[in-house]
Amino acid sequence: MTDLPDGTLSAASLPRFFSPSAASTYDKCPRRWKHRYIDKLPDPPGEAALVGTFSHRVLELLCGEEPSLRTIDRARKLARDVWPSISTHRDYQALDLEPEAEREFRWKSWRAIEGLWGLEDPALVDVRATEQRLTAEVAGVPFRGIVDRMDNSDTGLAITDYKSGKAPRPNRRSEALSQVFLYAAAVEADTGERPVQVRLLYLGQEAIEETVTDEGLDEATGGLASSWASLETDCSSGRFEVRPGPLCGWCPYVDTCQEGRSEVVRRVEAGRMRQDAPARAALGI
Ligand code: SF4
Repeated sequence: MTDLPDGTLSAASLPRFFSPSAASTYDKCPRRWKHRYIDKLPDPPGEAALVGTFSHRVLELLCGEEPSLRTIDRARKLARDVWPSISTHRDYQALDLEPEAEREFRWKSWRAIEGLWGLEDPALVDVRATEQRLTAEVAGVPFRGIVDRMDNSDTGLAITDYKSGKAPRPNRRSEALSQVFLYAAAVEADTGERPVQVRLLYLGQEAIEETVTDEGLDEATGGLASSWASLETDCSSGRFEVRPGPLCGWCPYVDTCQEGRSEVVRRVEAGRMRQDAPARAALGI
């Protein structure tokens, strides 16, 4: 991808694939998407994302075991085995946690892992695949994603994704489910098999489950196609709008973004920005 002399971007900058997380970043703020996916500026995961990485890895290994071995004790052992690869990773090291904060990190991760048993008994799940890579054309969009788990249920294939963050409010549930509906659409496009159910397991909180219907698939794939069409326009014009909002507090590019800086300052002054928002430290406010 190159900048042309007149400041626009070449059409070749359109990415080869569009994942749910890229689509979500683009929908929240096209400029942030550009910085991350075109300019390739660093967007290191924060503490919450690394808790997710740790807990996902342990559950992936656990669900790769024979069903009778999927116990809490086994998960504890796997967590101990996985911990060195997390604690020595540069993203974790970059957090620079004090010993007390590190204990808290490990505790949060364990609560997420253990939280699976509040939602289901993994020993009773018929796991077909874990960390399944999906590549397919979905609604004309070159889609790529990795689904946490694919399960055989009594009625057919179920798509399951773990979440270590906070469960959404009822009015945001269908937005949250669009990711797993996209996975379902990709599986159908790739294999011809339509999954019967999509599930989001908010570890330690609740399971959000939905039957796969034409309407659910159309809504998710329609949203993806619309974001992709908008992205095509942006890539050919080279103009990626800023969309300032609460997430500017967690944007790694806030110090180079005038609109984002103003948004964070305004929210801090109004008492509407969390103390732990990284942008506060980045901007010294
Ligand atoms: S600071 Fe806000 S407006 Fe600026 S790029 Fe980041 S998310 Fe977008």
